[in-house]
Amino acid sequence: MSKFIEGDNRYQTTLFPEKLDDFVPEDSAVRVVEMFVEHLDISGLGFKAEPAETGRPGYHPRTMLKIYIYGYLNQIYSSRKLEKEASRNVELMWLTQRLAPDFKTIADFRRDNGEAIRLVCREFVMLCRKLDLLTETLVAVDGSKFKAVNNRDKNFTRAKMKRRIEEVDASIERYLSLLDDTDDQTSVAEKQSIQDKLDAMQEEMDRLKKLEVRMLEAPDKQVSLTDPDARSMKCRGNGVVGYNLQTVVDANHHLIIAHEVSSDGSDRAQLHNMSLQAKEVLGADNIQVLADRGYYSGKELLACERDNIDAIVPNSRTSNNKALGLFDRRHFIYKADDDEYECPAGERLSRRTKMNQNGMLMHRYWSSNCGQCHLKPQCSTGKERRVSRWEYEDTLERAQKRLDSLPTAMSVRRAVVEHPFGTLKQWMGSNHFLTKTRKRVSTEASLHVLSYNMKRVMKIVGTERLIEAM
Ligand code: SF4
Repeated sequence: MSKFIEGDNRYQTTLFPEKLDDFVPEDSAVRVVEMFVEHLDISGLGFKAEPAETGRPGYHPRTMLKIYIYGYLNQIYSSRKLEKEASRNVELMWLTQRLAPDFKTIADFRRDNGEAIRLVCREFVMLCRKLDLLTETLVAVDGSKFKAVNNRDKNFTRAKMKRRIEEVDASIERYLSLLDDTDDQTSVAEKQSIQDKLDAMQEEMDRLKKLEVRMLEAPDKQVSLTDPDARSMKCRGNGVVGYNLQTVVDANHHLIIAHEVSSDGSDRAQLHNMSLQAKEVLGADNIQVLADRGYYSGKELLACERDNIDAIVPNSRTSNNKALGLFDRRHFIYKADDDEYECPAGERLSRRTKMNQNGMLMHRYWSSNCGQCHLKPQCSTGKERRVSRWEYEDTLERAQKRLDSLPTAMSVRRAVVEHPFGTLKQWMGSNHFLTKTRKRVSTEASLHVLSYNMKRVMKIVGTERLIEAM
């Protein structure tokens, strides 16, 4: 007898044949996937995978959806890997009832059903709401940059193009001067080698010039060769060529209740759109939204206020006067009844002119007594101190009051939003998105968000309660 634990004899037939179901524990995540997909009202979601009328029938969208949800829950994202797993992974065999579509069928399903997959993701958020897991009113919005398949060398901005053209130009100059320096002592092979290098550089210059035209035609003066929608974005460190994934996260359990993929690296124009999506999901009359200073925008705050969304965002406006050591805006008190400002010297600044600044109507206020004021050296370097007021400045003042009344708002925001992004990036590994174009990347993002939410809910309530709720 062996001193070690021995396994079963793989050639031994068993008295009572084992079923596939025997290999899947009762609390396995795969059972959650099965129940969730089976209980989905799939007819209204718009899946394109219809059964074939003639020839071999196609796979049911539920089967394909199960494969993808299982894959993303287990960090298996590529269609080729999923094909392999479908014929060797016992859980996946159980889930698909031993159906194993080929990788192209799997890839086509994800490509053709982006909108339906996004709606499935939303259905799971609705299930979270049914389970009372979402706060009714407090959420945080944030964006993070995720890498596209586009390599940095295959993305050109104005600055990168200028640098690259200068480098190639310098190389051409160098090879031309090397050719000039050749004489009878130089071997034919050596001359040919220099000429070949020169030809290659001139070819590269032609390619860059054509790309430059394409780049300048693009609205944002940028071109990406592998994924045309990917953009160079500022990020901690070197920056990335990728997408800006916007999320709204529930403050209670850090579930992602809304998401969107943007090619715009800035968060400035995202606050209202994302907050409104969250408000609809929560079905609330009014919500509070926490966001960082990157989202501060008068127009966005006004749109939020009009839709009954209380945004809490730190002011990102910088003051030149403060930098110069002069009184800044806070030293001027607005007197709403008189529509005037009171300055540190107690003078009143009255409304005089108006101007349009980036599509915003600004009123200008000043006093006629600045010339005689003893505080002028601390107040203005000009003839008088002028103060601008946006026509909807009261919206910004209310936003500031909300922020002042919640001193811990930004630390709460950080704690809420960091969890999902940290987790998603850890699961995705060094390559984030695998598909090209914003449309397909959005589908990938929906699958990532769905699997994140599913795992999180399983952890919070357990698989059994989650299955019961379906
Ligand atoms: S310079 Fe003009 S605005 Fe400034 S404190 Fe004096 S009076 Fe007031």
